[in-house]
Amino acid sequence: MTLLPMTDMLLKAKKEKYAVPQFNIINMEFTQAIVEVSTEENSPVILGVGEPTIKYMGMDYVMAIAEAAAKNSSIPISLHLDHGSSFEVVMQCIRAGFSSVMIDGSKYSFDENISLTKKVVESAHSVGVSVEAELGTIGGTEDNLHVHEKDVILPSSDEAIEFWNNTRVDALAVAVGTAHGMYKIEPNIRFDVISDISNSIPVPLVLHGGSGVPDQDIKRAIECGISKINVNTENQVAFSNAVRKIINSHDDIQDSRLFLRQGREAVKEMVRSKIRLFNSINKNNSSLLNI
Ligand SMILES: [Zn+2]
Repeated sequence: MTLLPMTDMLLKAKKEKYAVPQFNIINMEFTQAIVEVSTEENSPVILGVGEPTIKYMGMDYVMAIAEAAAKNSSIPISLHLDHGSSFEVVMQCIRAGFSSVMIDGSKYSFDENISLTKKVVESAHSVGVSVEAELGTIGGTEDNLHVHEKDVILPSSDEAIEFWNNTRVDALAVAVGTAHGMYKIEPNIRFDVISDISNSIPVPLVLHGGSGVPDQDIKRAIECGISKINVNTENQVAFSNAVRKIINSHDDIQDSRLFLRQGREAVKEMVRSKIRLFNSINKNNSSLLNI
């Protein structure tokens, strides 16, 4: 299958009340683990790529690995720019072959966020690429940018309606009390904010900062209207812990594949648990995507 925009897979998820996972990829091992398990579980999947990963791998390697993963796959796969910081970066990704992009205008004023997002949507939609935007300010640390708890702004449903009417994005990341990275104290998720916004606009909502949120809160967030959940930190931690464990216990390892394989297995286990938690298992309905 070719790389697909995420619009149809998210609309189906919103209608049937489950969440499509976005797992960020940083190398070949992550990509293999994510696509292999998503295929086994028959779940649609979104491969997230942040700007630091594009710098780390190079655009040609990002595209080659994602296309290799999608080529022989039977499940719908999107290649999605995570937290695109500017119109220029978004355009570079679309030209390279990304099927979906996020433009993160949350650092700007509400009006500036609308005009930047609108510009991205017009360009992306003209070539069949889906767009996610962000409303409010999600706390924590993402791509070296730290947002302090006191600077977190939760959006109102009126703002969401105005934002949606003006931009027509395909997915909207909303700040609802989660934070990027791992939590030091348990997060206080505002389910009321999720429900209000979900009931006000038809666009699927996205939960960022889901790492470390208790399972029952994730389930409740999906019931309240979350249709896409981003997972990054937990896979990174699983991979690093598995690699550290084998290296620490075998100080004579020379073949790097021995520990990379362990890391890949740890990511597979995490991916499987998230797919089941988000209930996207067996939600590969390709016929719907071809309407
Ligand atoms: Zn995020």
